[in-house]
Amino acid sequence: MIGLIKKEFAWIQMLEQEGVLYQLLDTIPDQYDYPIIINRSLNQYELQQIQKLLNHGTCILTDTFNLEKIKPDLKFASRKNRYLLNDGTDIFNNITAIDYQYAGHNKIFQSEYGNGNIIAIPFHINQALLDTGNERKPFYYPSRKFPSEITAKVNKGVIRKLVINCIRKLYRKMNLNYAHLWYYLNQMQSAFAFRVDTDFGPESSLQATFDLEDKTGIKFTYFVNTKAHPALANNKRDFQIHCYEHLVYKDYQRNYDNIHKAKSILEKSGINPIGFVSPYGLWNQHIQKAIEDNKLKYSSEFSFAYDDLPLFPVIENRWSGVMQIPVHPICIGRLVHASLSQDQCLDYYQKYFDKQLQANEPIFIYDHPHRIIQFPDIFYKILMRAKQLPDIWLTNMTEFYHWWQARLSTLKQSQWQIKQDQLHINTQNQTDKIFLHIITPDQTETFIPLQQGIYNLQNLSYKNIIKPIMDKTEIANYPKLKSRRTRMQINFYQCIDKILDKIKG
Ligand SMILES: [Zn+2]
Repeated sequence: MIGLIKKEFAWIQMLEQEGVLYQLLDTIPDQYDYPIIINRSLNQYELQQIQKLLNHGTCILTDTFNLEKIKPDLKFASRKNRYLLNDGTDIFNNITAIDYQYAGHNKIFQSEYGNGNIIAIPFHINQALLDTGNERKPFYYPSRKFPSEITAKVNKGVIRKLVINCIRKLYRKMNLNYAHLWYYLNQMQSAFAFRVDTDFGPESSLQATFDLEDKTGIKFTYFVNTKAHPALANNKRDFQIHCYEHLVYKDYQRNYDNIHKAKSILEKSGINPIGFVSPYGLWNQHIQKAIEDNKLKYSSEFSFAYDDLPLFPVIENRWSGVMQIPVHPICIGRLVHASLSQDQCLDYYQKYFDKQLQANEPIFIYDHPHRIIQFPDIFYKILMRAKQLPDIWLTNMTEFYHWWQARLSTLKQSQWQIKQDQLHINTQNQTDKIFLHIITPDQTETFIPLQQGIYNLQNLSYKNIIKPIMDKTEIANYPKLKSRRTRMQINFYQCIDKILDKIKG
């Protein structure tokens, strides 16, 4: 299994999101049959060991800071980069650009070395992924104004995808089968969920949302503003917590009290909430602690993460026990603000759905009842488009939380190994819902239920992996998101954000 030489939050998080097995290596071994992640600086002896491993064909994933030591003839000019654009190689599969500002080399280094291979990322991965800052960010759509929202500064999901693409490539280079726990129930290609934040919608808009849920047959998850909607009947819909006061505070106590009050109101209606989403998608350490202490299980804040697999925030130098389930941060209101027509709104989501499905990433979107009653037809169309996607798992936020938790505990209780053509699985897992996804060195793939036993890989049926289609115009247009003109637009909204922030207290 893949080797990791230092226990770091972000690395372990990504490997668990991917569902791969890894081994912590205290020392650099003389021989290793799988790729190794070099995520700390090495001493002279260790550098020699690494060179030996590379000569024997072991592949290495590291950063350019370590690479300069491994290959002293290489020197990388450091400069300020606003982003890292898709370079056309396969490690950028399903990635338009890495949205991360850093000082360092402006390319990802990929090269053969001895009989092995090195890939070096030009920034510190752990540092990038532990960033909890937020900023107003534009999202690309071919329109005069770009839709924008206050989101996490670092797009964590895209860095994870890059790292996983690198690891998969190194497995291929080492002629190894790559196996990981599949992300979704059975062999579904993606999952769809619709999150509704009730905000200040009048009763009629809630009813319109219930009607939409029934008409589409997709199960929604409602995050209730309990001050505006105190008396919800427990009518078999999935009700969770948005807030009592529609505010996020800068301290712990007021956040705790706000969530607690909302929770008590829902409990009076016979509802036992386990999920939460914060007003405006805002996140800070205090709110995370307040969610934990209210004994909730999951939350979703796009100013912490968006367009990613579930993850666990790190606070007080430890994992939080509350799972973060990211959504796509752009709702219809943001598109309307950017002057998109109704057809363009539909097109925006269709493009987003296609992109996520192709990348096997979740398709979780959110909106509000007051928008649903305003544009019922467009919502119906968007949801039906999602429903018609091939091999899509129609789920909701709470069901997906339970799924992901089950997948994580299965990962921690299972081992597998491929020797020649034999797959050995050692697991307590009894269900037939969790699958291993196997990618062969010649780029075919197969799925097999994760169940105790020894299986001959030659008896499985394989499908060729099709190279993902990348939207070249989107890559070419990406720099527009960082242009002076866009910055001016964003600055204007930031001024409004600041005024609103004062009003919100
Ligand atoms: Zn809200």
